[in-house]
Amino acid sequence: MKNISDIRLNRRTLLKLKGLGVIGLASISPCAFSLASEDKKPLPRVRLKLSDYQTFRSTCAMECLHCNLTAYVYQGELKKIEASKDFNVKCCLRGMSRTKWVYHKQRVKTPLLRVGEKGEGKFKPISWDEALDLIEKNIRDTIATHGNKGMLISTHAGNMDSIKNDMGKAFFDYLGGSTKQAGSLCCSAVTAAMMPMVGLRYADMRDTIADSRYILCWGNNPAVTMQAYFKEYIKAQANGARLVVIDPRFNETAAKADEWIPIIPGTDTALALGMIKIIMDEQLYDVDFLRQHTGAVYLVDARKKQLREKPDDAESYLVYDTLTKSMVRHDAPGIVPALTKAELPADAEYTTVFELIRTESQQWNLAKVEAETDVPAATVLRLAREYASNKPSMIVQNMSGAQRTEFGTYVAAGQFYLALLTGNMGKAGGGVCDAGGVRQMMKINAPLPAPKDVQKIPPIP
Ligand code: SF4
Repeated sequence: MKNISDIRLNRRTLLKLKGLGVIGLASISPCAFSLASEDKKPLPRVRLKLSDYQTFRSTCAMECLHCNLTAYVYQGELKKIEASKDFNVKCCLRGMSRTKWVYHKQRVKTPLLRVGEKGEGKFKPISWDEALDLIEKNIRDTIATHGNKGMLISTHAGNMDSIKNDMGKAFFDYLGGSTKQAGSLCCSAVTAAMMPMVGLRYADMRDTIADSRYILCWGNNPAVTMQAYFKEYIKAQANGARLVVIDPRFNETAAKADEWIPIIPGTDTALALGMIKIIMDEQLYDVDFLRQHTGAVYLVDARKKQLREKPDDAESYLVYDTLTKSMVRHDAPGIVPALTKAELPADAEYTTVFELIRTESQQWNLAKVEAETDVPAATVLRLAREYASNKPSMIVQNMSGAQRTEFGTYVAAGQFYLALLTGNMGKAGGGVCDAGGVRQMMKINAPLPAPKDVQKIPPIP
């Protein structure tokens, strides 16, 4: 492993790496087309046929729908962007306006050096050579003064920089390491909830929105953030679905919804627990689904530890078979595992995960939920009943506002509990929709092999 003193981090090295997108992580436009035309004389006005254009496939790298774009280029100049004909979404104005981004007179094309105070907005253009010298000096100075942990690589969110972020990390790792931020900026809460609860991170239900009977946009505003896809929500409404928005703000989706439920920010988990209590009390849960597809039937002891057939086999969860009246492995054939306490032996010193969830939710009665959330008790009651009985019902969380908030994971977890309890998982028009990202759809290998000897520096959450 080489460290900074071994690597000849000269301008040439940096320039080579820049060509790979490492230096100046923000210097590369998210648009794939960088056809400099500003200095050219305007082309004479001619009537063009489609065959006069070169066409290119590309993608809109914004963090919403990953729209598939077709670019039309005439004599080296990007003229038009449109949604590719075989893509099921019409891209939005943000994507189509890329012709303007590429040629905008304020587009940054050279490095800029700040010459005023921070925030003053005073910069002067400098050459790449000067910029790279300055970066090299700062990297060396930082490592000499603070060590490698003194360098923070602050990456962008999700898809925008899936490849570029990795290159940046690799660059600093080859210098011996750097401080990193934990996870992605966009989806920490839902990732932390989903991985232990459902074992994967991909829950993109967007193509089944129109099949839904009840759509709960929770802390999410798809009329703006899934703009090109909002037609699916409208289609669902036309098919008779009810669209409900839970959000402190009367947002654009709320304006189109059948109901807007304002809530005190940061109290969403209380609302979810209140809904869970109602679903438990009124037995609106899906018994068959819970028995067949969830760990709600797993047994737990008095210390809330799950019981296993073999302590060293993490998958050997035990359940209580109501047919043979015995404890068996959860995956034994032909069993009907107990879900509720009433199905367990009266003297059992264990209970089920389902009963733990019930206990956890019991304190969240309507009065307490109303006091915490400011959502009227009658609304909470109706919301829980409607969500549980109009199936398939979908919660749209889509990397909701909870992601980087304190205990935001519980908001996402509460939503998954609701979907699981009501048997809405795995059904078209149901589930918890999370628009996901390119890394959930495909495997992207690291662009460089990891260096062997990187310092372990704790990330910043
Ligand atoms: S919806 Fe608009 S901004 Fe988002 S990926 Fe598509 S074209 Fe780009």
